[in-house]
Amino acid sequence: MDSDDTSTISGRSLQVGGTRASDRRYDCLDDAARLARRYIDGLQDRPVGAQAGLGELRAALARPLTDEGEDPSVVVESLARDVDPGLVASGGPRYFGFVIGGAVPAAVAADWLVSAWDQNGGGFVASPALSVVEEVAATWVRELLGVPASSGVGFVTGCQMANFTCLAAARHAILRDAGWDVEAHGLHGAPRVRVLAGEYAHVTVGVACRLLGLGQLVDVVPVDDQGRMRADALRDALAGGTGDPTIVCAQAGEINTGAFDPFVDIARICREHRAWLHIDGAFGLWAAASPRSRGLLAGAEHADSWATDGHKWLNVPYDCGIAIVADPRAHRVAMTSTSAYVPAHDDDEPYGFDWSPEFSRRARGVTVYAALRQLGRHGLADLVDRCCDHARLIARRLAAEPGIDVVNDVVLNQVLVRFGDDDALTSTVVQRVQRDGICWLAGSTFRGRSVMRISVVGWQTTPADAHRSADAIIAAARTAGG
Ligand SMILES: *Cc1c(COP(=O)(O)O)cnc(C)c1O
Repeated sequence: MDSDDTSTISGRSLQVGGTRASDRRYDCLDDAARLARRYIDGLQDRPVGAQAGLGELRAALARPLTDEGEDPSVVVESLARDVDPGLVASGGPRYFGFVIGGAVPAAVAADWLVSAWDQNGGGFVASPALSVVEEVAATWVRELLGVPASSGVGFVTGCQMANFTCLAAARHAILRDAGWDVEAHGLHGAPRVRVLAGEYAHVTVGVACRLLGLGQLVDVVPVDDQGRMRADALRDALAGGTGDPTIVCAQAGEINTGAFDPFVDIARICREHRAWLHIDGAFGLWAAASPRSRGLLAGAEHADSWATDGHKWLNVPYDCGIAIVADPRAHRVAMTSTSAYVPAHDDDEPYGFDWSPEFSRRARGVTVYAALRQLGRHGLADLVDRCCDHARLIARRLAAEPGIDVVNDVVLNQVLVRFGDDDALTSTVVQRVQRDGICWLAGSTFRGRSVMRISVVGWQTTPADAHRSADAIIAAARTAGG
């Protein structure tokens, strides 16, 4: 045995008791910071869409796996070089595809530290510090979103799992009230659960129901011309009901139009029928953070659960969703993990696994903590307002052009556009804009017709970017229209 204080790992010498700053294997962290900085600095100018295709990316990345391993800096440098042409500048100022959003600097940096700290965010015993960071972030989120201060909050991977978590709590509570313990007995022999959702509910609500054994969403409530659930139709559906334990899934921010369901009426109807009201507000719930848009959520505070995303409008890096349940006991019973080797914990100690489906987990709430500290209340309100302003600016510019129609009421950050009232022309313009690379947005279908969907959720977008994007869309429409 060596008598000095070094040992050998992977053929290299290092000091016992930790790594020294001079350990060159960690130079890759500096490389990563430099490469990240260069990428982020370039977001403004690079083409927004990916430039490399599937074949090129496979050719660049599918290297032979070595037997001996590679130098960490070489791995990081060549990874960054190989992926670069296939990256989408979705964090940049002119990406309006789907509803994606960028990442504010403090959240990106905090996310790196979460990796460096490599904590298991499952609970207090494994990471006291990050459990408390998430606890604080949860408190801020409750306040900013205008939900009860006593609600349960779980940081999950996205709104898909937020919907899942909330609906698991709903399933627990409504079956408990019907005299059935679903955690103990599952759904075999349980009373039938009725789940209603608007015709334009997001696909992830249906997936959540499927995963929870509630079956396919078949109880569909008709919507109006903006995709809002019709309260009168919900009333009729429930009036003709069977008295089964019932969950109603409403929506804040329809994925195409950005429209909000009429929550005041929906909440009243749900109360009358003792139905659990869940709201999918993946991006729309953040309207609560600004006095200008908060009114769109009137009545939403009466819901039983809310699902939202951090990685969309809050602009934290992927991935982060947030599940909020008004009755923390229902939330916790549906989610908690207990095991012989996990110390029983009292209610005062924060355990992420009480509020999310994961056991071991990344402390995703840390990015929320960092983003909210960077932005502050006013910065967050300003972020929401700016995105809405830019959406309206683009809508105004496009609507002024002959042959271009804005087909939704622009109440939030979403704009739906049609060209020449023609499906084929609309798709052609979308493709042309994508190829030109000034901005990026996707096509969608709304009420059976092709549309271009513009979603403004990035913190970097300026009025100049909005104008430049409108110019690019108008130019593409003129060329395509011949
Ligand atoms: C994006 C979105 C979802 C799904 O969220 P993920 O974070 O992608 O899982 C659910 N509902 C609505 C309304 C959305 O916009």
